[in-house]
Amino acid sequence: MKGEWRRSRSASSSRLNMFSARKWSGVSRAVRLHHFRSCSVSRASPNLTFVPACLPPDPVEVEELQRFVSNSKRLFVMTGAGISTESGIPDYRSEGVGLYARTDRRPVQHAEFVRSASARQRYWARNFVGWPQFSCHQPNKAHLVLRDWEKLGKLHWLVTQNVDALHTKAGSQRMTELHGCIHRVFCLACGDRILRSELQEHFEALNPTWKAEAFGVAPDGDVFLTDEQVRDFQVPACRKCGGILKPDVTFFGDTVSQEKVSFVHQRLAESDSMLIAGSSMQHLIYKVYSGYRFALAAREKKLPIAVLNIGPTRLDHFASLKLNSRCGELLPLIVCT
Ligand SMILES: [Zn+2]
Repeated sequence: MKGEWRRSRSASSSRLNMFSARKWSGVSRAVRLHHFRSCSVSRASPNLTFVPACLPPDPVEVEELQRFVSNSKRLFVMTGAGISTESGIPDYRSEGVGLYARTDRRPVQHAEFVRSASARQRYWARNFVGWPQFSCHQPNKAHLVLRDWEKLGKLHWLVTQNVDALHTKAGSQRMTELHGCIHRVFCLACGDRILRSELQEHFEALNPTWKAEAFGVAPDGDVFLTDEQVRDFQVPACRKCGGILKPDVTFFGDTVSQEKVSFVHQRLAESDSMLIAGSSMQHLIYKVYSGYRFALAAREKKLPIAVLNIGPTRLDHFASLKLNSRCGELLPLIVCT
């Protein structure tokens, strides 16, 4: 595994993968090795608990997507929570099975996290409890297909709105994590970076007798605990400066850096078609840079756009192709040459 990872870190890939690997090179490597070593979750059969009901792929749909992919030479792919539901991670919005449909839980707000020690205590206590399960989720067939398309030169760039690291675990390199990754943590004051798995050890050392039971894990690793349960939880500060530690994810109310947005627009400008997999592209209830803007840019450039998502999306009226299937069921049927 070590050798394979080193081989894949060629000069060209590390140059291109500037937002997901170079900045965090040691971290990304450790994340991947850690997961392959310590998690024994099988990839063989999908976990459909959080996947909305849908019919098997229609042969006509398969043929249409096949034509779309065959005609593309430099495919730009954008993925959302819907691609990870088959790995057992719930999304926020799906009817009946999404987090919003099942609970009244809403994601943490950036301003509240920065301002309030008790908000951070609540966030980290929940995240601490959810981590052992959340960190072991494995990529499903859809993630692996996109990894293969990259290797074959079909996929020009991948942008994910997910923070679950499943594309990284699958081996994708030409990728930008638009909203960051929950497996990395940094200090708001000095910028020091550590692995989320490393932080887990600090939590355990600081809270040797603290215990709470988790009830359901959210797309960002959050679980549900009462205020009473989190009251005695101890949160570590930055080891270097004592500053506030925050996951390397864009919380709701925060913005994606202009540098990252421009980088993705450049990759889109080099592409000849766009595939959106597992995202409804709906407005989030809190402001965050939405992948929808990249879809609008693709439309302006008159690129063919295919949308693969169970249920309606914001792009349905201007997509060249709309497919209502599970990503992990339809994508493996496409022959990539
Ligand atoms: Zn610091």
